[in-house]
Amino acid sequence: MTKPDVKEQIIDFMANQGMRITVQRQAIVEAAFNTEEHYTAENLLERARKIDQSVSRATVYRTLPVLVKTGLLRELDLGKNEMYYDPNYASHPNHNHIICTDCDKIVEFDDYCLDVRESFIANNLGFRPVTVKLRIEATCTQFAKTGACSRKNS
Ligand SMILES: [Zn+2]
Ligand SMILES: [Zn+2]
Repeated sequence: MTKPDVKEQIIDFMANQGMRITVQRQAIVEAAFNTEEHYTAENLLERARKIDQSVSRATVYRTLPVLVKTGLLRELDLGKNEMYYDPNYASHPNHNHIICTDCDKIVEFDDYCLDVRESFIANNLGFRPVTVKLRIEATCTQFAKTGACSRKNS
């Protein structure tokens, strides 16, 4: 699924930063937002190259922080060796993650009660929450029962 409005905002942002909107950068922006999966810089490079073969690793690594600066892409520390990038905050600004320790699948969830609790806790302590990152690392019950995880390849 593509989100043209997000891509347009990013391209505008880059132009305002004085960056040249090359076909390579356009391919990176396209690849960054044509998925709802969470990805690493290397994943992004691979997918951007499917759009434009001339995309270089250096350009991906230089462009990623710019995308993060727009606030439309978030850098995620999932407790793995590499940083992950999440294109879904533009559509789901308050979502959280469960990471399956059996199959590495990342599952997103939104929970209104959790949002209310977070605000309540912060307010009680004299704060207003700005960002909340909840990361639940979990084993999957299906894997424990059957030895296989149906989420693995989805
Ligand atoms: Zn996410
Ligand atoms: Zn699993």
